[in-house]
Amino acid sequence: MGIATVAVYSVVDFRSPFVKEADEAACIGAAPSRESYLAKEKIIETALAYGCQAIHPGYGFLSENSEFARMVVDAGLVFIGPSPQAIALLGDKVASKALANRAEVPVVPGCYDIIRDDAEALAVAEDIGFPLLLKPAAGGGGRGMRIIASKEDVLPALAACREETRKSFADDRIFMERYISRPRHIEIQIIADQHGNVVHLGERECSVQRRYQKVIEETPSPVVNDTLREEMGRVACKLAFEAGYTSAGTVEFILDQEKSFYFLEMNTRLQVEHPVTEMVTSLDVVELQILAAAGEPLPIRQEDVKMRGWAIEARICAEDPARGFLPTTGIVTRYAVPSGKSIRVDSGIIAGSVITIYYDSLLAKVIAYGEDREEARSTLLSALNGCHIEGLITNVDFANAIVNHPAFAAADLSTDFIEDHFSGGQPKIPPDPEKLRYMVIGAVLIYHTRRSLVRESLKPMAALVGGPPALLRSHHYVVKVEDDVFDVELEWQQEDERWTTRVNNYLYEVVTPEFEYYRRRLKLKINGTYQRFRFQYSDNHIQGFFCGIVRTFEVYTPKEWNLTRYMPREKKVVQENILRCPMPGIVVGVCVEEGAYVRRGDELIRMESMKMESGIASPVNGLVEKILVQAGQTVETDETLLTFRLS
Ligand code: ADP
Ligand code: ADP
Ligand code: MG
Repeated sequence: MGIATVAVYSVVDFRSPFVKEADEAACIGAAPSRESYLAKEKIIETALAYGCQAIHPGYGFLSENSEFARMVVDAGLVFIGPSPQAIALLGDKVASKALANRAEVPVVPGCYDIIRDDAEALAVAEDIGFPLLLKPAAGGGGRGMRIIASKEDVLPALAACREETRKSFADDRIFMERYISRPRHIEIQIIADQHGNVVHLGERECSVQRRYQKVIEETPSPVVNDTLREEMGRVACKLAFEAGYTSAGTVEFILDQEKSFYFLEMNTRLQVEHPVTEMVTSLDVVELQILAAAGEPLPIRQEDVKMRGWAIEARICAEDPARGFLPTTGIVTRYAVPSGKSIRVDSGIIAGSVITIYYDSLLAKVIAYGEDREEARSTLLSALNGCHIEGLITNVDFANAIVNHPAFAAADLSTDFIEDHFSGGQPKIPPDPEKLRYMVIGAVLIYHTRRSLVRESLKPMAALVGGPPALLRSHHYVVKVEDDVFDVELEWQQEDERWTTRVNNYLYEVVTPEFEYYRRRLKLKINGTYQRFRFQYSDNHIQGFFCGIVRTFEVYTPKEWNLTRYMPREKKVVQENILRCPMPGIVVGVCVEEGAYVRRGDELIRMESMKMESGIASPVNGLVEKILVQAGQTVETDETLLTFRLS
């Protein structure tokens, strides 16, 4: 659009891509967000000092903060977003539901009054029926919500929810609504100008969630037909119009199994998942936001909005799916993202980026386009197969496993998807045996190629003792993967430069591997189709990543394999008398005292990391001997928090 940009950043973000991409950049403070990205005055002062005309608040931090929007306007700048009044009205879940009622938009059955006391909570709960959901009026990011299954749970859940809400939003207003079972999350993107025009850009389905937060988003939704889209779109535009809304916004609904939809909330900002909408509509949502903020009329009418093809996005986060999606930190030591004509990667990091506990765990988004859902899905799979992040644990293979899952392929989605199909971050079904054999081929070819290289360098010495040792000539390997053993034979076909490979009783024709060592990427043509893998190795242990399957392959020559059979294999489980820290973060409270007797599951320490507060439970029954940390202290993964005396 020819508009120059100034980025603001905190001390730790000085190397971030967004800082380099902007025409100018200003450091506005220390790492903690309240000293930088949440420091309203500093941001406005910086904008004025650099001669800016407008502020785009992005999609985190102050993007839904009406006070900030007001301050921007009062400073004589333009806020690229809706008016402060519209943010205040719609940002509050209770007020926005009242508005929805007036606009005749269906809302989830419930009580949209703030719960005043325990007696009222019990009465309202009885009235709505179980299961029900407790929600903070000021909520966002899935924080504070609690499902209540029965009457006994109401009061304890209310107390816990209040506590969390007060901390996260400095507001403790709570309301209750019916919990819709196995719903789908469907949202409508709208854009409104300052002349009363509101247009919707179709829906996005964001049902695949953990902790009530989205992981995979797509458009169109496999369950939304033209009639339903028109109806939901009409209702969303009506709501925006009634609210006097002017900018891009998202009206979130849940769809029950009967395909009735209910208004959840409106997000008064650009959303993380807007790229999928951009791909299928060929519109630029940020451009439309800027035009609207400049007072221009919308350049499109409803009938100009055409959805073509399919787009799916995967959020790549610094989190560990095996540890309940707890945040992770670290330094990105290697970073390779996919590229291609139907792939878009929006990334906040580069090799060398430091992922700290101060900000959200979102690192990047990988978005794939296809003519239809299956094409978009397979492009996303292959894109994620080539997405390599080393140095910290991420969800990249977890996201890939979702996209690879047969239930996802069948578009059989609900917000329970992850719970239904995954446990401990792993799919509940075993990996596709064909895909596992592909990985075996990859691992063997990498191992064999390295051995051949070593053999080359050994030649002069080997010549002295009569040629290479016999085992190096062997093209026969045994591969062990967890409890499976594969017998692999390689035969090099010189005339057409490919390998004939036998894995157990399956034959494959494989075109010579290309291995990009730095990116850890291996591309193979197996039986005529290209497959992309990532491999990382240390001696004969080769870790492979493919379609969400992560396995360590142990590669042996037949002779070595015979020897390994006599190696002891039992694993000893020792009960530890220490409490280890499961994630990096800040200790916000210690819930026990030295000398106290605790039971397995009791909460001992409370911690905060990446906007999330969580409790750490005792792994044992025993006496707390020594507490080694205190509130306010920063701790690392696996650091000892306290010790126990076990009886
Ligand atoms: P949604 O995921 O529906 O768009 P969320 O309320 O989860 O809405 O938050 C939107 C996004 O805002 C987050 O995914 C994240 O990218 C960004 N965000 C919010 N708070 C922060 C923060 N403290 N640091 C960095 N990014 C943030
Ligand atoms: P947030 O502001 O945290 O995004 P939302 O109201 O948008 O809160 O809800 C987030 C997610 O929680 C939804 O996408 C959905 O998965 C789940 N959810 C919210 N309300 C209900 C409900 N009444 N019944 C079932 N699931 C719900
Ligand atoms: Mg929401």
